[in-house]
Amino acid sequence: MLAKNDLLAQEIREWLAARDILAFNLTSSPGAGKTTLLERTIRELGSARPISVIEGDQETLLDAERIKATGCSVVQVNTGAGCHLDAEMMRRALDTLDPPSGSLLFVENVGNLVCPALFDLGERSKVVVISVTEGSDKPLKYPHMFAAAGLVIINKTDLLPYVDFDLEACSRHARSVNPDVQIVPVSAVSGEGVIDWYTWIDAQ
Ligand code: MG
Ligand code: ZN
Repeated sequence: MLAKNDLLAQEIREWLAARDILAFNLTSSPGAGKTTLLERTIRELGSARPISVIEGDQETLLDAERIKATGCSVVQVNTGAGCHLDAEMMRRALDTLDPPSGSLLFVENVGNLVCPALFDLGERSKVVVISVTEGSDKPLKYPHMFAAAGLVIINKTDLLPYVDFDLEACSRHARSVNPDVQIVPVSAVSGEGVIDWYTWIDAQ
């Protein structure tokens, strides 16, 4: 099953490259703030480059409606009992979305730090989002996801004064499973640190 997924993901990667479309696969546990980060990113980067979004959730159109309200083109994929997006879902979503050449494409995966690590969608890079309301030890508990990521975003830094989250320890744990990974603390609500996220996107 994974070998078949990898083959299709490679075809998607070539299809995206031929159109100069830069795709990122955002993963996290539920509630880390992926949709809020995307809303701000679209508002702040959308005038520079067209942006499209593929939204993955088990049920509802709620996140797609939030993204649509920013004026961005979006397709919602509902996985039902499934707990991750796979390359076939990505291919069907791309058929519908038909993103323009030279665009940015964000895939918001189903909130789950386990199997999205295993399923290549043909993206340039996986971006794992953790929030400061979670445990600083998450990179140790879900090492495959953190090892597969090209970037770790630590979100909700505006809440740091109110929670027992050790930013240093979390960064150290992330680097223990992925030594070269970049780590960017942000607040998608206040905008603190998001410039580092945009700089990372530019560098890709
Ligand atoms: Mg969401
Ligand atoms: Zn799954």
